[in-house]
Amino acid sequence: MRHLKKFYVKTYGCQMNELDSDVMTGILEGRGLTKSYDENDADLLIFNTCSIRDLAERKVMGKVGLLSRRDKSSAIIGVTGCMANAKKESLFQKLPHIDFVLGTNNIHNLNQVLDDVLTSGKQAIRTDDQFTFELDYLAAKREDKVKAYVSIIRGCDKFCTYCVVPYTRGPEVSRTPKDILEECKLLADKGYKEITLLGQNVNSYGKDQPDWNFLFHDLLYEIDKIPAIERVRFMTSHPVDITIELMKAVRDLRTLCEFVHFPIQAGSSRVLKKMHRIYTVEQYLEKVRLLKEIVPNVSLGTDIIVGFPTETDEEFEETYRLLKEIEYSVAFLYTYSARKGTPAMRWRDDVAEEVKQQRLQKLMALQDQIYAKQRQALIGQQVEVLVEKRSRKNPAHLKGRTRCWKSVLFASEKDLIGTLQKVTVHGYSSQTLLAELS
Ligand code: SF4
Repeated sequence: MRHLKKFYVKTYGCQMNELDSDVMTGILEGRGLTKSYDENDADLLIFNTCSIRDLAERKVMGKVGLLSRRDKSSAIIGVTGCMANAKKESLFQKLPHIDFVLGTNNIHNLNQVLDDVLTSGKQAIRTDDQFTFELDYLAAKREDKVKAYVSIIRGCDKFCTYCVVPYTRGPEVSRTPKDILEECKLLADKGYKEITLLGQNVNSYGKDQPDWNFLFHDLLYEIDKIPAIERVRFMTSHPVDITIELMKAVRDLRTLCEFVHFPIQAGSSRVLKKMHRIYTVEQYLEKVRLLKEIVPNVSLGTDIIVGFPTETDEEFEETYRLLKEIEYSVAFLYTYSARKGTPAMRWRDDVAEEVKQQRLQKLMALQDQIYAKQRQALIGQQVEVLVEKRSRKNPAHLKGRTRCWKSVLFASEKDLIGTLQKVTVHGYSSQTLLAELS
């Protein structure tokens, strides 16, 4: 059997994929392989893919397609992640030079699939529809030494009409509290200061396991008891599952950051209904009002899609007004793109690409004004930063984030990475607050 020495992993898409890549890194290092950052220097290439947008898929197809020009014996090539689940065997037709396809629910089968390929010389595939927590998250090899992602729930039961996730990642499966807490304690012992709890819809945590009688806020209270953990974040969440208990946890818990990702997706109740978001704009705004009442200093994040099928100019204007009214501190803005296998794919994609782009640009310009206003308001203020790394562009400076996820840059000769520091903001660039140690 051929003996592999070096592997290269390219990750596309979300934080779930980043964590899956870290777990695959751990599995492969456990097998005796060394990680390479140069694809030409590796004999195993893994492309951990994303299906959330058409552009993400096209990027992967282009990149992996180019590898067909290489000498076939030079490297084993695997496609993992959401595209593996979405396209399954058809990937072998489109990319005949790849050796294996491994779905999001089969990361734990990586060694097995590699052995199959190496012994038989044939293509191999594993793409289960449902996740089982056989995956050993403790094997994950993270490069970041300050912040860590911890998976708490996989899959999604919401079935928004535009989204491929329920089909690529399957139904919701919560990880046991014991396993999560064990991993958090282990990370604390290794010196990690910040944990981001991950899931497609973290605030559904525990609902698939009624016997546990243990929901998302219960988990947050338990993690808060780990003394060495300074900050806890979570992503992503669905507005419907943001409960009063969760809002109170944001107010009361030492570690839980006052930043809630609260993705509205559209500012028109008719469009939300067509998206199957299961809330109206009024219900959403009422929850935002309640959250701000309970946690007055909370910052909000959102995702918004413009140009969803049948969205009119007036409905887009409703989204524009909502963005202006709420003043999110983080907004991920996208144009709609139809995803194969979703209900929305059956509808005519009737908003012209040019109109989608105009709408997106209009929202982005507004959001830039909001960012500038928020950064301006922080000038002269002292904020607490968790120091994450040295700036690559300017090594005399350190980078970190505030509790509300604002990026901060400040000068320091000392190695303060992994510590909490008070800094005073004196300016800002397009993305970052500029500060000095207080
Ligand atoms: S909540 Fe909706 S958008 Fe989020 S992963 Fe589930 S189906 Fe997709």
